Amino acid sequence: MATSRPVFILHGGAGVLAARSYDREEAHMAELARKSLDAGASAMDVVCSAVRTLEASGLYVAGKGSSPNRSGHYELDASVMDGPSRKAGAVAALEGFISPVELARAVMNETPHVMLAGAGAASFARQHAFERVADPKSYYTPAGAPDTRELPTGTVGAVALDGRGRLAAATSTGGTLNKVWSRVGDTPIIGSGTWADERVAVSCTGQGEYFMRANAAADVSARVRYGGETLDAAVKGALDDVAHLGGDGSIIAIDAEGNVSAQFNSAGMKRAIVHADGRIEVAVKTR
Ligand code: ASP
Repeated sequence: MATSRPVFILHGGAGVLAARSYDREEAHMAELARKSLDAGASAMDVVCSAVRTLEASGLYVAGKGSSPNRSGHYELDASVMDGPSRKAGAVAALEGFISPVELARAVMNETPHVMLAGAGAASFARQHAFERVADPKSYYTPAGAPDTRELPTGTVGAVALDGRGRLAAATSTGGTLNKVWSRVGDTPIIGSGTWADERVAVSCTGQGEYFMRANAAADVSARVRYGGETLDAAVKGALDDVAHLGGDGSIIAIDAEGNVSAQFNSAGMKRAIVHADGRIEVAVKTR
């Protein structure tokens, strides 16, 4: 049964260290979850506003918390997708701007294209007077400690179902730590890291190379659409496929009935869920 109450999930990435406390992130996510309940806002407004705030916080590996690539450059990726229209926007390997997700939304709204990359994306951002990073060295406060894993991770994302039954998804990242120059992951790839249609809204985080090869976000929709799977089964199936390829990570998803699913096969996932009854759930390591 469709809900008239908004339903919302945000994530702060699949990168979780067993020994570390995430009290600050949990408090921050809970506050954002409460704000998402602002009645009347569209699902697209809700996901963009949440992701923009997550980017600006410096607590996650996205926006301000991003790490430089191996060449010392901060290259960021983001995407948004609107369920009812299936319009989408994305930026990849973007340098020099505060909010990649806002730019992705502008690509969707202001151009006939879905993705702009690199220098062209930056030029578009300048033309539209998006807020710039004046000095990367002082602005960025990398939130992820480089470790020895091949593809350490961190990303932010949000999915929402608004009171009018509209679904939307948004995802933003600084990418995997230690990535090479111009590496682009799943986050800005519509269907891999982000998806929304009239059935589901999905945002992924994890080792992007595997999510791209599994086309994970769109796979959740396909499982519901063609396989008749429940949302939980579809998210599990998509994550199992990522695992089958050798990757790990997390997926958050909402369907048109207001069902929610947040699953991971990584060490954890920073996340907050606003259920249809208004209950807010925040967790990092527990399932
Ligand atoms: N999926 C992101 C990427 O591969 C990283 C992450 O989710 O932490 O760029």
